[in-house]
Amino acid sequence: MTTKQRLLKIFNILLTSFGKRNWWPGETPLEIVVGAILTQNTSWKNVEKAIKNMKNEGILDVERLYEISPEKLSEIIRPSGFFNIKSKRLKNIINVIYNKHNATIENIENIKTYTLRNLLLSINGIGPETADSILLYALNKPVFVVDAYTKRFLKNHNLYNGDGDYHEIQKFFMDNLRPDVYVFNEFHALIVYLCQIHCRKVPVCSGCPLEGDKDRI
Ligand code: SF4
Repeated sequence: MTTKQRLLKIFNILLTSFGKRNWWPGETPLEIVVGAILTQNTSWKNVEKAIKNMKNEGILDVERLYEISPEKLSEIIRPSGFFNIKSKRLKNIINVIYNKHNATIENIENIKTYTLRNLLLSINGIGPETADSILLYALNKPVFVVDAYTKRFLKNHNLYNGDGDYHEIQKFFMDNLRPDVYVFNEFHALIVYLCQIHCRKVPVCSGCPLEGDKDRI
């Protein structure tokens, strides 16, 4: 079985076993962009509290976020932790959207994926994982998101022998899967779920849907 076939098989087994994960939670692309920054170094529960505060304050809007002071924004997003840093990061990306793209996320959706990725990476506080989460989940671009769960799964399941560099792992997935937003979206979310319940630091292989993956070394 080729790596392409094996990855697709794994994706189908996980999808059949766990069902669609319906990521990313968020009612609008802007909410997803905000969530991708707020989730840095914290749990999603804390992000939900911060986003709820933002909704209550009526600031989940590009213009309102542009106008609000970083200090006030820090207070509102306090539950997400590292709130002063995250406030600056949110202001950084909002400034780019507001000043260069007429205050709409839709305007940046039309930019080519490679150019858009470089634009996001040029914004202070946005690294590859955050940039790719925004590209995939907020802007529907076929970019595979790599995170600590992805790395753990590949290592535990003996699926990849590289050194674990973010872009190498991303290339491994993108070279072996067709560029499909739906597959990239669900596959990443399924791996996260798999790692939360089975593929932990010490893997719980018993009962894992991939326990019988025949090519497992
Ligand atoms: S829990 Fe075990 S069988 Fe399941 S993916 Fe991890 S290493 Fe593979």
